[in-house]
Amino acid sequence: MLAQLPPASPDPLWSLISAYRADPRPERMDLVVGMYRDESGTTPVPDAVRAAETRLAEAGASKAYRALSGNADFNAGMARLLLGDAPARLARHYTMQSVGGTGALRLLAELVACATPKATVWSSDPGYVNHRPLMTAPGLGFETYRLREAAQGLDMAAMLDDLAPAKPGDVVILHGCCHNPTGIDMRPEHWAEVSAFCARRGLIPLVDMAYQGFGDGMEADAAGLRRVVDDNPTVLVAASCSKNMGLYCERTGAAMVLGESPAALSRVAPLLERIARASYSMPPEHGAAVAAEILAAPEAWLREVEAMRRRVAHLRAALGAALRAEGASAEFAALERQKGMFSLLPLGPEEMRRLREDHAIYGTETGRINVAGLTAAQVGPLARALRQVATP
Ligand code: PMP
Repeated sequence: MLAQLPPASPDPLWSLISAYRADPRPERMDLVVGMYRDESGTTPVPDAVRAAETRLAEAGASKAYRALSGNADFNAGMARLLLGDAPARLARHYTMQSVGGTGALRLLAELVACATPKATVWSSDPGYVNHRPLMTAPGLGFETYRLREAAQGLDMAAMLDDLAPAKPGDVVILHGCCHNPTGIDMRPEHWAEVSAFCARRGLIPLVDMAYQGFGDGMEADAAGLRRVVDDNPTVLVAASCSKNMGLYCERTGAAMVLGESPAALSRVAPLLERIARASYSMPPEHGAAVAAEILAAPEAWLREVEAMRRRVAHLRAALGAALRAEGASAEFAALERQKGMFSLLPLGPEEMRRLREDHAIYGTETGRINVAGLTAAQVGPLARALRQVATP
C-alpha cells in the first residue's frame, strides 16, 4: 500500500520556517508564521489565560469524556462575543466547539456538502491558503473573487463582478477582519453592499473570524459579521481563539450556523455532531475551558487584546514612516492603512528570495509578511531591506 501513495510536497510555509531556523545570521527575521509576538520576540500567554489555567488547575475537574459539541459555556460565550448581546441574533444560532478555526471551517464544509454537495465555495484571491483544501476535501467546488486595494479601500466592483456567476446556495467566504494575507479590510459600506448582494442572490456568507480584536477592536471587528447576520437568512461562521487568546496550540475555535428561525436549525446539531464523531469525536477541553472562564468575565482579557492590537498598529505606523524616510515607492504606503497581522508586499518571488538570501528576512514566496512578528528595533532594517530589494 505504501508504495502506491501519491507523492506530496512538504508545505512551503513549513519549509521556509525550517530554513529560518537553520539560518545562523543573528539579524534574521521570521515574518512567515502567523503568530503575534511581543517586543522580546516571544508569543506570549496572556495573563488572563494564565489566571484561568490556575483556577482550572485548582478546581481539578475530572478528565471524563465531554459532549460531542464541546464545552457548553464556551459555545455560549463565543456566541455572545461574535453576535453581541442581541437577543434576535442569539435566538438564531447553533454553536459548536471546534478544533481551532481550521476545524470549524472543515466542519462547516462537511455540513454544506451534506445539504448541497454540488455547491461552490467562493474565496478571495489572494486569500487564505488553507481555504481551498478545506472546502474541496468534502467535494465542494471552489472558485475565487478578486480582492484588490482601491482608492476607497477595496475594489468592490471587481469583487462583485467575479461573484456574479455564483448560484443560489453557493457559499461566499468573507474574512471577518484583518484579511489574511492582504490586511485589506472591508469598511462598513462594503459589508453592507456584499451582505445585500448575498441576500439578493441567495448566497450563503461564511464569515471566517480568525483575528477578532486585532483590527479596530473586539466589538468593531464583529460589526461586519453582525450586519451579514442581520441581512441574511443563513450564515456560517468559523471562529478562532488562537490569536486573540494566544491559545494557538490548544486548538480552540467554534463553528456557528445561523438559520432564519430556531426551527430552521433543528437538523444542524445532530449532523455536526455526527461529522465530528466520524473525524475526532470530541474536541479538546482545555483551551475551551480556559476561554469559557475568560469570556465569563472578559474585562482584563479585553485590555490585553487591545494592547496587542495597539502594538501592531504602532508597528505599521513605524514601518510606514521608515519606508517613507527610505524613499520607498508609493506602493508600500498601503502597509500603514492595512489591518491586523498580515500585509502582502508589492514584491514577487525573486525579490522575496533576495530579502531572504541577502537580508535574512523571511516572508512567504507570495510576499506575505507578519507585521505582528516584528520588534520595534527590526522596523528600520526591514524598511531599508525592502527599499533595496524593490529598487531594480
Ligand atoms: N482562517 C484564517 C483566515 C486564518 O488566518 C487562520 C489561521 N492562520 C485560520 C482560519 C485558522 O486558525 P486556527 O489556527 O485557529 O486553526
